[in-house]
Parts: sequence; C-alpha cells; structure tokens
Amino acid sequence: MPTLKFAVLAGDYIGPEVMSEALRVLAHVARQENLTLDYQEAEVGGAGIDRHGKALPDSTLRRCEAADAILFGSVGGPKWENLPPKEQPERAALLPLRKHFTLFANLRPGLLYPELTDASPLKSERIPQGIDIVCIRELTGGLYFGQPKVTTTLPDGDVQAVDTMVYRRSEIERILDVAITAARGRRKKLCSVDKANVLETSVLWRRTATEYVARHAPDLTLSHMYVDNAAMQLARDPNQFDVFVTENMFGDILSDEMAVICGSLGMLSSASLGAGRNSLGLPFGLYEPAGGTAPDIAGKGIANPCAQILSAALMLRFSFGLEATARRIETAVRTAVTGGTRTGDIAFGRPSVGTRAMADAVIAALG
Ligand code: NAD
Repeated sequence: MPTLKFAVLAGDYIGPEVMSEALRVLAHVARQENLTLDYQEAEVGGAGIDRHGKALPDSTLRRCEAADAILFGSVGGPKWENLPPKEQPERAALLPLRKHFTLFANLRPGLLYPELTDASPLKSERIPQGIDIVCIRELTGGLYFGQPKVTTTLPDGDVQAVDTMVYRRSEIERILDVAITAARGRRKKLCSVDKANVLETSVLWRRTATEYVARHAPDLTLSHMYVDNAAMQLARDPNQFDVFVTENMFGDILSDEMAVICGSLGMLSSASLGAGRNSLGLPFGLYEPAGGTAPDIAGKGIANPCAQILSAALMLRFSFGLEATARRIETAVRTAVTGGTRTGDIAFGRPSVGTRAMADAVIAALG
C-alpha cells in the first residue's frame, strides 16, 4: 500500500478552509485506490507568527524536511500587514521555503474550461475551447537574486540602484528539463521566452535552449519568442502556446497575465519543484493555489476549493508519481464544475454553492 508522506501548511484566512476540502478529496481517493495518507499539519505565515513568533517556525520546517512534498495553502492578510516588510508572512515564509528546498521551477497550468470563458477578460470568441497552457518559470535565479543588488549615493550626490541579472548554463538546463517533461506529457510544443535582442543572459538562455532541446528532446518542437511579444500573444491568442518556459522576472509577469486571462484565481493551481529528490526518488515540491488568502471572503464558507484540490493533484503527479490518480482528480473537478456546481467566483449570476458543497461535487464525480 503506497504511503503519501506530506506536510500540510494551510496558512491564513481561506487557506485552512480550502485545505480541509482538498484533504477530504485526497482521503476519498486514498480509500478508493488503497493509498495511505501520512500527513502532518503545521503553522505557517500569520498563523506561525501568532503561535510561534515566526512566519516559518522551526518546527514547521522540520515537518517539511521529514516529508516528500508540501501541500501549501496561502499566507498573509490585513492582520499582519503592519509588520516590517522582512517579517511579512509571504516574504518570511515562502521565500525561505523556496530557498531551503531549492525550489527552482514554478509550474503553473493556465486552465480555463470552455464553460467558464465568461470568467476571462478575453472575448469568448477568441477562446471558444477555453484555455489550456502551462507556464514554467525559473524561480531562484535572474534579476531577483543576482548580486550586486545595492543602492549607493554617488560622489556627485545622485543616487544609483543596481540589480544584477545573472544566469548560468546549468541553471537554464535544469529548468529546461522540467519544461521538457511537461511538454512531453502534452502537445510536445515548447516555447522559450527571452529578450535575446537586448540581454546577455537571454542570449545564453536562447543558445542553451536550442542546444539542449536538440540534444535531449528532439521529439519536441521548440520555438523562441521575445518577452514583449509573448505578453501580446498571450492576450491575443493564448492557445498558440502549449508549454512556455522563461526566466524569473519574465515568468513572474507572464504568469500573472496568464492567471488574469484564465479567470478566477479559485481555479488555478501551481507547483514549485525542487532540485532535491524525495524518498521516492521524485522531485520534492511545494504545491499551492495561485491566489492568496482572500480575506474579503474568508470565514464565509464560500471560497472556491478547486485550486487547492488541483494543487493536490499536481502533488500526486510530480512528487508521488501517481499520474493516473492526478488525472482522475483533475477530471472530477472538471466534471463537477462543467456539470453546474459552482462557487460564487465562477457562477456568473447563477446559483452558487459553498466551499464544502463544491468539494462534495468533486468527491461525487470521483465515484
Ligand atoms: P487574493 O488572491 O487573496 O484575492 C484576490 C481576489 O481573488 C479576491 O477578490 C478574492 O476573494 C479572490 N479569490 C482568491 N482566491 C479565491 C478562491 N479560492 N475562491 C474565490 N475567490 C478567490 O489576493 P489579495 O487580496 O491581493 O491578497 C490577500 C492576501 O494574500 C495578502 O496578504 C497577500 O499578501 C496574500 N497572498 C498570498 C499568496 C501566497 O500565499 N502564495 C499569494 C498571493 C497573495
């Protein structure tokens, strides 16, 4: 009986509300498929600050280290927004987790069912089949981490700030590996996004992508696109992409654009995969909804649990190698939503259900 050992970090506001529903779905699937769930819950974010004085308490980190994956909710909110920036829940919990586990690859499915095209700011006729693409963002390099990163006062009294964009070939190759795996599981089309007409790092990025894919994935069709064009193409015709891969800052911006065109944050999942392997020899990863803690709807029982449920499906796929189980959950979410069970964020004026009833519909669709 395979055992799924993971840490559960629900976080703040709607975090625990949607997490408990995702755990209910996992428990149902585990019963059906004879899997053993072995998870430990731990405080993170504001909950960590309130209970242990730290957004990422040591005890929480130890639970994560002992696990094969982390199922994460979301952190932060008005209660803690007056803390100094370095102590803010998101910054003081997520960034150290990314660093500690070298979570270098952020994978975000951009998924919009045809039945939900009203949720997208794009005209429905541009996306008659909905949207189904994947963004893979490098997460630990580039402009956000490069050194020097400093503000100085110059001899003439002017003030100068410097950020450094830096990439090594090995960093580009390991994110390409993730992109290649993702593209192979889909339409085998990979687009590498860069700014090679201006940036040295992008020249290296493009050359590395060309050589690496030719050598390791000749079965894929590789294309290249400048990031400014990619931003336009995403808004014009998102489905021309299948999987696109890009560096940290470009990915930060493009993945948010993708989230907007895909409609509700309540439907969007994400995976951050690490360089390390778990006890099963698979990538250690952190899996979380793309959205935040939604304080505006917290405590009302109306948050959409689908993003958290779909994040759990990603965890089964990448950190536990359970592709068929992951697909069953994804299909069940789709069946429940397209069958008409909708939380308020995706109901468009039709009757809506609460968090628990939405998860019940997913469980019913699982049989
Ligand atoms: P948000 O994503 O929490 O909410 C934006 C809008 O989307 C809100 O109207 C909210 O109600 C809605 N929404 C989000 N998730 C939903 C769901 N599951 N179901 C239905 N509606 C949903 O963004 P925000 O309001 O800018 O941020 C709130 C807090 O969350 C802030 O403290 C922010 O720092 C934090 N945050 C945390 C993470 C994270 O933990 N990774 C990510 C983003 C924001």
